Amino acid sequence: MQNVSNVNKKIETETERFHSAMLMVREFSRIDTKKQCLAFKKSYGPIRRNGKNIKNSEILSYAKHFAVALKNFDEAWLLMPSDERRGLLLRQIQAEFNVAPVTKSKVYFHISKGKQPVLRMRSDNLLATIWLTLAEMLQENRNTQKCDHCGIWFVPNERRRTASRYAFCCEDHQIKFHNQRKGRK
Ligand SMILES: [Zn+2]
Repeated sequence: MQNVSNVNKKIETETERFHSAMLMVREFSRIDTKKQCLAFKKSYGPIRRNGKNIKNSEILSYAKHFAVALKNFDEAWLLMPSDERRGLLLRQIQAEFNVAPVTKSKVYFHISKGKQPVLRMRSDNLLATIWLTLAEMLQENRNTQKCDHCGIWFVPNERRRTASRYAFCCEDHQIKFHNQRKGRK
């Protein structure tokens, strides 16, 4: 029998999984050199298509396409565009998604006691996971942001998602950032 603390632990793990996937796709979108390809593969594993490892030059081109889609989402998510503009951005992402290498994915239904049933997706290749994560981000309206003090990418709390001018990974960096600015004046 599952006790309450186990259930809570499971929710936390699921959230963590999504958070780390969001940071992973951000890293993928920023790949611009062969060196970055190698570093990415070292962290997250091989990138295959139809069971074969793909060349770095192909990874660069996939990353570039993905970066465009993520950039569109960044604008839709953060800059609060007009409804018309938002619709256009989302349709562009949809067009990219529909030709993206989302293959060999398995969709299944997960039911656990005392929780809402969820639709889960499992894929056997990283490119599919990357695109499916973006789809999940759109669906959940979650995204990553860059800290204006230390430059790391992080997952903000939902309540922090505002069109405010600056973003910070923690309160400490918010204070440091503003103190430094005051010091400069
Ligand atoms: Zn920071």
